[in-house]
Amino acid sequence: MTGALLKSSLWHTEYLNPFIVFQHGITEILLTKKTRFQDMLIVRTGAYGKALILDGKLQVAVEDEFFYHEPLVHVPAVLHGDPRSVLVLGGGDGCTVREVLKWNTVQTVLLVDIDKEVVEACEEFLPELHQGAFHDPKLKVFFEDGLKFIDNCHHKFDLIISDLTDPLEDGPSFFLFTEEFFRKVKTLLNPGGIFVTQAASVSLPEEPLHPRIVKTLSKVYASVDSIQSFIGSYGSPIGFAMASDKPIETDLTRHHIEEILFSHVKRDSLKLMDGRSFQGFVGTPLVLRRAIE
Ligand code: SAM
Repeated sequence: MTGALLKSSLWHTEYLNPFIVFQHGITEILLTKKTRFQDMLIVRTGAYGKALILDGKLQVAVEDEFFYHEPLVHVPAVLHGDPRSVLVLGGGDGCTVREVLKWNTVQTVLLVDIDKEVVEACEEFLPELHQGAFHDPKLKVFFEDGLKFIDNCHHKFDLIISDLTDPLEDGPSFFLFTEEFFRKVKTLLNPGGIFVTQAASVSLPEEPLHPRIVKTLSKVYASVDSIQSFIGSYGSPIGFAMASDKPIETDLTRHHIEEILFSHVKRDSLKLMDGRSFQGFVGTPLVLRRAIE
């Protein structure tokens, strides 16, 4: 191979679409398990450190997970300004609740993941990810389908964060990306509350899933916006979609963003987020805004 010397004899292959494959050289397999809900692998990749793979898709890698979790949590949290009660659907690796718990405003966090075996494996094999967050007294963990949990829940939240696997037709998260589900979530938001969801890659032209998720949210919420971040270990940028019935005003000055963020989160606990990078995460490219309109 011109210009490169391949160093691995074991490869994890992801089929991004019928014409693109993305591969990680694997240096060690730490765990392989078929859970009740999905095929789970925990491996050490040559480039991005330890990683969790579910149903053949890399979910999170230690060396670049903050490119996913910091924008997923801190963009909506800053736009809310004072999140106290937070619900996380999915997020079994613990990174999302770890970021939520950095906010000194937060009083309660519920994490609802369908797969106890994934959470237990992440707790044991990937402590670099949760960093002890699972034992924070503000956190309550439920092992339940997010769909069922939402149906039976009587609490209200300032932020609801869906950190789910991609909506594959035969996967466990498929029904958590529907209009019906988005309507149910809305009933659990406090006034001014924000819902944010993992919303697929934004770079695959023949698979416009991100605009579809944003459009479906627009049928339910008065205000919807898109966030993007490039995740090296995914080989593509990821999109998140935010929704609220209060206008989401993303056009804030750096000074204003940092005033909110650093009054509530210790600056040195973050690797990525400040006023300048925040503006990049919400600076949806024109081509994507056109696809969403
Ligand atoms: N960053 C990730 C990605 O690649 O999009 C998401 C990571 S997180 C590990 C995804 C979690 O969603 C998994 O732990 C999985 O068990 C959970 N999950 C999938 N379907 C779910 C459902 N219906 N209810 C609750 N949790 C679900």
